[in-house]
Amino acid sequence: MNDLQQTLTRLRDALGEAQVLTGDSISQRHYSDWTRHAPTCPAALLLPEDTEQVAAALRICNAAGQPVVPQGGMTGLAGGAVPRATDIALSLDRLQGIEEIDAAAATVTVKAGTALQDIQQAVTDAGFLFPLDLGARGSCQIGGNIATNAGGNAVIRYGMTRDLVLGLEVVLADGRVLNLMNKMIKNNCGYDLKQCFIGSEGTLGVITRAVLKMAPQPGQSTTLLCALPDYPSAVALLRRIQRSVGTPQAYELMWRDFFRMGVSWLENPVSPMPDHHPLYVLLESPASDETLQQTLEAALEAGEVVDAILASSQAQARSLWKIREATAEFPLRLAPLNFDISLPIGQIGDFADLCRERLDLRWPGNRSVYFGHIGDSNLHLTVDCHSLPQPAPVFEIEELVYSAVGELGGAVSAEHGIGLLKREFLHHSVSADAMQTMVALKNSLDPKGILNPGKIFG
Ligand SMILES: Cc1cc2nc3c(=O)[nH]c(=O)nc-3n(C[C@H](O)[C@H](O)[C@H](O)COP(=O)(O)OP(=O)(O)OC[C@H]3O[C@@H](n4cnc5c(N)ncnc54)[C@H](O)[C@@H]3O)c2cc1C
Repeated sequence: MNDLQQTLTRLRDALGEAQVLTGDSISQRHYSDWTRHAPTCPAALLLPEDTEQVAAALRICNAAGQPVVPQGGMTGLAGGAVPRATDIALSLDRLQGIEEIDAAAATVTVKAGTALQDIQQAVTDAGFLFPLDLGARGSCQIGGNIATNAGGNAVIRYGMTRDLVLGLEVVLADGRVLNLMNKMIKNNCGYDLKQCFIGSEGTLGVITRAVLKMAPQPGQSTTLLCALPDYPSAVALLRRIQRSVGTPQAYELMWRDFFRMGVSWLENPVSPMPDHHPLYVLLESPASDETLQQTLEAALEAGEVVDAILASSQAQARSLWKIREATAEFPLRLAPLNFDISLPIGQIGDFADLCRERLDLRWPGNRSVYFGHIGDSNLHLTVDCHSLPQPAPVFEIEELVYSAVGELGGAVSAEHGIGLLKREFLHHSVSADAMQTMVALKNSLDPKGILNPGKIFG
């Protein structure tokens, strides 16, 4: 029996036959994440049913020096859960369920394999809101959300996943179970170890349970579309709204090319306002129509806004959102090379100009569109590879964009993580000393390097 066969025998003894799959019995869902990057059947798939089985599996794999790739809902956009043929995939699919909703503490305690949507629903039924929300809500798992420090739709108001986690249970590479479960807002007992695991993309430990913060349910919101004369006005308008009516639930900036494209893809492609303005912002505010109207009038007077539509019905609000939701059509209508980057909010406008200028200089006639959650300092930029010489020079474009991000002090990943796909570009945002410190942390928690090798650092 070779080493792998011996390890599999031990795993079957500890977890049971049904929890250790190999070959054709492994569903292709476990070959790659949403990116479909390098789909590969792992050497085996483990389906532990509780924390003790996760611990037993890691103890056995660690003793054998066997690499393990933690897998959640497989909706990641950075290749973080993609296995190699020699890796064992460890899926959290069977660790599902809400353990407790504590209304006094406003917390929900969950198992790591629970789908985000199930948590949202249970929390809503209890009269609260779980504010983490993203398009993959039905398939992604809270363990994956935590491991990637996911962002999503409501970050401007509620923060990233990191801001919503109070406690964690994590199984370390050698099988020790780290109990960091906690329901208290204030807890300053030494290092806040849970933060090391949030955003660690399965490289430091396997998350098995979590305590999450619940928020009060929001009231009704008002939808507003504004045309803006320039980028500084987008920042000034955001700050004005925050001062006068509070932080909006969404603040989505669209550059003109994106806005025109979104309108042209509507079923009825008629722009709700003239489409020659440089920028458009779609915002969702908790303020009443009248209060928002007053703020809008002041913004118009100050020249921050040049045109505006306050949605007067749910149907109108939905039709305005359809323009922003053009991104869902990208895979069908473009050959999209998508970027998820962060920059200090004041510099996002300069970055978009710089990036467009450099792309145009290098590949005249290329098509790139810009849009983003700028209140979270997050810019998305998509280059349509159909508009480039073939085969599209993907690495060259990535290097051009990420080096510009580095020049302006930004982050090459705002919310999707590094995984496999951004490893070569991490140095644009992380100094050599910071990188060494990350590697030292990895080595101390996982000295044999069995957890998700090759991810983040290469
Ligand atoms: C339609 C769509 C919309 C999306 N929108 C957003 C968005 O708005 N914002 C955003 O941030 N992301 C978004 N994403 C990306 C993705 O949904 C998130 O990254 C999500 O958090 C991944 O969760 P998952 O369970 O699918 O993790 P997976 O893809 O299975 O894994 C992701 C990473 O986490 C690790 N991991 C998974 N579970 C665990 C665990 N229990 N313990 C330790 N490590 C683990 C894996 O090893 C891997 O490195 C979107 C994806 C899709 C398909």
